[in-house]
Amino acid sequence: MSLNDVLSDLGKYLEFEIEEGRNTAAVSKQSLAALGRRRSARPVPPPGPMTPTAEDALAGVAEEVARCTKCSLHETRTKPVPGQGSARPEIMFIGEAPGYDEDRQGLPFVGRAGELLTKMIDAMGFTREEVFIGNILKCRPPNNRVPLPDEMDTCLPYLKRQIAALCPKVIITLGATAAKGLLDTTTGITKLRGQWRRFEGIDVMPTYHPAYLLRTPSAKREAWEDLKAVLEHLGRPIPERSQKGNR
Ligand code: URA
Repeated sequence: MSLNDVLSDLGKYLEFEIEEGRNTAAVSKQSLAALGRRRSARPVPPPGPMTPTAEDALAGVAEEVARCTKCSLHETRTKPVPGQGSARPEIMFIGEAPGYDEDRQGLPFVGRAGELLTKMIDAMGFTREEVFIGNILKCRPPNNRVPLPDEMDTCLPYLKRQIAALCPKVIITLGATAAKGLLDTTTGITKLRGQWRRFEGIDVMPTYHPAYLLRTPSAKREAWEDLKAVLEHLGRPIPERSQKGNR
C-alpha cells in the first residue's frame, strides 16, 4: 500500500467521523483540507530520458565524421570539416565541400571564398559566431573536384542531422552543388537563386557561391538581393549597402 493510499483511507475515515459528530482526533478543517490536497496530488512521474541538446547532437555528428570511412575521401583528407557556428542559429549557410585551407584547418570557409562569406554575413548584420556554416561534404575532394553523386548521398545524413539539431529559421545554400545536394533538383543555380524553396519544413534561399562571386563580381548585386530577401523574411532591418564593393 502506497503512502497516498494510506492518506486517502485516513482522510475518508476522518471525514466520516466528523460527519457522524465524532471528531475524537480533534482534526481541524485546515488539516483535513491539506490532507485532501495531498490525496489529490498527482504522483510525480519519474524523469524521462534526457533529450540531447543541439550542442550534444552537433558534437555527436562531429565525432562520427572524424571516424567516418564511408567513402574514399577519408583517405585523402587532412582534417574533416563538420561545420562551425551557433547551435541555435537563425541562419544556416551550406556550401559545397572543404577546399585546401578548410582541409588543413578543419574549419569551413576559411580561405578566400570564406573571407567573402564572412563579409556577406557581416553585411547582413550577423557575425560568423551567430550563424552556422556547414557543407554538403565533410571531407575535401582531391584537387577540389566537384563532389560525386555517391559522395553526396553518403554524406547527406550527417547534414540532415545537423539541420534537425540546429532548427535554423532559414537555410542559405551557396552555389549549384549545395542547392542540388540539399534540394535534389537539376535546375541550374542562375534560375534557382532568389527563389524560396523548402527542405524538411525549413525555408531555403539558394544563392551564388562566394567563389563564383569572386570570379564574377557583377553577380554580387543579385546575391545581395537574395540576402536581403532572407533579412525581410526574418523581419530583420536591411543594413545600408557598403560603398567598398564588398557585397
Ligand atoms: N567552399 C565551400 O563550398 N565550402 C568551404 O568550406 C570552403 C569553400
